[in-house]
Amino acid sequence: MKALVVGGGIAGPAAALALQQAGIEPVVLEAWPRSDGEAGSWFTLASNGLHALDLLGARHLVAPIGFPSERNVMVGATGRVLGTMSLGVPLDDGTVAVTMKRSRLAAALLDEAGRRGIDVRHDSRVVHVASRPDGVTVTLEDGSTLEGDLLVGADGVRSLVRRTIHPEAAPARYVGLTNFGGITEATSIAGALPAREWHFVFGSRAFFGAHPTPDGDVVWFVNVPGPAITPAERAARTPEQWRDHLEGLLAADAGPAADLVRSGRLELWADNTQDLPRVARWHRDRMVVIGDAAHAPSPSSGQGAALALEDAVVLATCLRDAGTVEEALTAYDTARRARVERIVAAGARSSSSKIPGRAGRAVRDAMMRLVFRFVVTERSSAWITGHRVRWEPGEQTAEESALPSGA
Ligand SMILES: Cc1cc2nc3c(=O)[nH]c(=O)nc-3n(C[C@H](O)[C@H](O)[C@H](O)COP(=O)(O)OP(=O)(O)OC[C@H]3O[C@@H](n4cnc5c(N)ncnc54)[C@H](O)[C@@H]3O)c2cc1C
Repeated sequence: MKALVVGGGIAGPAAALALQQAGIEPVVLEAWPRSDGEAGSWFTLASNGLHALDLLGARHLVAPIGFPSERNVMVGATGRVLGTMSLGVPLDDGTVAVTMKRSRLAAALLDEAGRRGIDVRHDSRVVHVASRPDGVTVTLEDGSTLEGDLLVGADGVRSLVRRTIHPEAAPARYVGLTNFGGITEATSIAGALPAREWHFVFGSRAFFGAHPTPDGDVVWFVNVPGPAITPAERAARTPEQWRDHLEGLLAADAGPAADLVRSGRLELWADNTQDLPRVARWHRDRMVVIGDAAHAPSPSSGQGAALALEDAVVLATCLRDAGTVEEALTAYDTARRARVERIVAAGARSSSSKIPGRAGRAVRDAMMRLVFRFVVTERSSAWITGHRVRWEPGEQTAEESALPSGA
């Protein structure tokens, strides 16, 4: 069976590795030219995603491009600690999570697919999909066409494949935060921040996150509440002017946020944060969507890439084990839907908590301390990162198989 995989982000190449492992021949079609891996934002891959990479024999790819992360420490605008929390249920070797650039992981996965003999095509934007009960034909931007027995839409939150499967599905929604990300290189502040920790500030005007790297840099992001930024508004300021704007928003908060932004460089700016809560149909005929194309949690969940990797494994095992493609795609939907929709909902709550309400700083801090003590705890969140998808034959369920006892 030949599978056309649309998208060379995280889900696409991971699906290609998984499909090949299941005896299916994948072709990856990515719209953009081969990337140098340096564009865009940093993210943290939780242990459930690392486990999925393990099942694909691809976890070794993350060590050279990332660094270990273990905890989140949340502080208020005054610098007072509101809570600390592990980044999740560790793998058997103790690894909790790894922070890296999204684009570096995508490039590493695509390179690995190429090394395994998978046909990876860059500069191959799919502009049309024609579906038949027994196969698909895609048309690329240059007018050429390709035939496949199966189409895997791993084409991200604005997915063309999703619109083809389910034209009425609501598009992604803005979650009320604009996102900025950057790096401050060779800074003494790196030594002042605890290693392997995200330092989060529920600031008076913006939410801030920073993580020191083993090289003495600090990577950081700022989430600014407010209306979505239009393309014209984005273009009206240079990155340096956006950086000055952010520094102003952070100036009143205790801690290193404003200093880091002032002495750093923006790598991502004025990005409207979105999520995609529920798409009623993930598959039709021989087409299916995975990753952000099917269910994009807000970045605040820290789970989008991990879920995309889980999807890749589950889809391939369903195709390997089911009698027909239709049965496989139904089994994939059944195995994944409840879990991912619950995580998207948790991500939306997490995004809302970053938007300061009318309560004063002291009241908000007191409320957040209670939330991190009783509501959002390591124990209550263990079902998210403690989940372990399986490669062995058998039903894929949403059971929280790797939870610590009693969780
Ligand atoms: C700021 C930010 C922070 C985040 N932080 C985290 C985090 O800490 N942890 C985490 O797990 N996740 C995080 N995420 C989410 C994570 O980045 C996404 O969930 C993940 O990238 C989804 O992978 P994907 O392959 O489904 O989609 P994408 O990564 O969006 O890849 C889709 C690919 O499809 C290609 N494509 C699109 N249309 C076509 C077409 N028509 N033809 C051919 N190719 C096409 C695109 O060029 C792209 O390469 C974050 C996201 C953002 C924005």
